[in-house]
Amino acid sequence: MSSFNVAKFGGTSVANFEAMSRCAIIIENNLNTKLVVSSACSGVTNLLVELANGVVNEQQRIKIIEKLADIHQAVLTRLEDSTNTEAEVSKILDTVSHLAEDASIQASKKLTDQLVSCGELMSTHLLTQVMREQGINAIRFDIRQVLRTNDDFGKAEPNVAQTAQLAKEKLVPLCQEFVVVTQGFIGSDEQGNTTTLGRGGSDYSAALIAEAVKAKGLEIWTDVPGIYTTDPRIAEKATPIPEISFSEASEMANFGAKILHPSTLVPALRHDIPVFVGSSKEPEKGGTWIRHQVQSSPLFRALALRDNQTMVTLRSAKMFHAYGFLAKVFEILAKHKVSVDLITTSEISVSLTLDQTDTSGGAPQLPAVARKELEELCTVEIEQNLSLVALIGNNMGESRGYAKQVFGTLEDLNLRMICFGASPHNLCFLVHESVSRHAIQKLHQELFEA
Ligand code: ASP
Ligand code: MG
Repeated sequence: MSSFNVAKFGGTSVANFEAMSRCAIIIENNLNTKLVVSSACSGVTNLLVELANGVVNEQQRIKIIEKLADIHQAVLTRLEDSTNTEAEVSKILDTVSHLAEDASIQASKKLTDQLVSCGELMSTHLLTQVMREQGINAIRFDIRQVLRTNDDFGKAEPNVAQTAQLAKEKLVPLCQEFVVVTQGFIGSDEQGNTTTLGRGGSDYSAALIAEAVKAKGLEIWTDVPGIYTTDPRIAEKATPIPEISFSEASEMANFGAKILHPSTLVPALRHDIPVFVGSSKEPEKGGTWIRHQVQSSPLFRALALRDNQTMVTLRSAKMFHAYGFLAKVFEILAKHKVSVDLITTSEISVSLTLDQTDTSGGAPQLPAVARKELEELCTVEIEQNLSLVALIGNNMGESRGYAKQVFGTLEDLNLRMICFGASPHNLCFLVHESVSRHAIQKLHQELFEA
């Protein structure tokens, strides 16, 4: 195991010069931090995605590129010595212009990845220089030399073994001498094409890199002081959780708590690397530690909410008492790479929700080809405008009485697809999006504020 920590800074943590300077102080204050993973400056990836979609006309394109230039220029003007950094950033901005032009002729996922990677490529130039000017022996490293993925552009899968090997050769030795600053979110395939891990993927990158260098700890610095009992913008009285187990935190991340990318904990768990989540704005407030062993395991730990759910209900009277219905359904879904999240079943029907796997952000869609094949087998009904509410906790299967408390609190709401039992750490259901916040507020009040 390496003796150092990996620290990841999110988009708001590197939004501007002041924010980057705060990151530098956090790094300076922890001599153990030898590897820094950075997101693009706040807002940059969204602008790049707009360009990549290729729909903007020339004038709009120029406007977006100006906005991008302004965000980075604002940091450059604050540097004592900006010559080299400025040259590097402007080279990348030129690339952005060319790629955006190509995208306006023909957009593609491969091109999108090339374009959106430019955000992290620029922010890391700036952050490295800010750190240097604060006296840190920092060096920038292009993570595409190490983070190897497949070529599934837009949501590439990492090759963990190759990444570990490359990290050992190229990254670990650098960390002995420098504080290395590198990009989250991006990687490259066997052919050297740039890939991305999907929106919000920097957390996942940081965890993969931490795993690859066998880090001692992973710090995720964001804009909130840790994980809360629920989103404090929804329930005012939500409180920070000082310590939470990997299983609970994974359920939370999966079920919509936007703090961590859902895959982040997978590599951390594989190598038992403790993960800290804190605010780079208010590091003195502490944060949440995610660990294997925790001191307390309360029945209710937190509530998570995820919007934009797509519920698919499949029915086939022909399948009454027959076997193989579910197998056929899932064969079709697997063939079309449709990832399923929740499921509930009855004798002749199955309801499921679709996983959000790509970078688009909206409600996931059932691909038309998959729908057509399913319709040869059963009726297909699709509902949207639903939100998923998840209650995270411990030993739920072995406790009594709380179902009444949970469902009693929500008795005036229409709960759909109630899922419980597969994991002792979570109970979840869908509600119409118009009442989802109300559901969280009522549950928080009843279960966490009493
Ligand atoms: N910059 C990327 C995004 O905004 C990755 C990340 O920040 O996690 O999705
Ligand atoms: Mg994020």
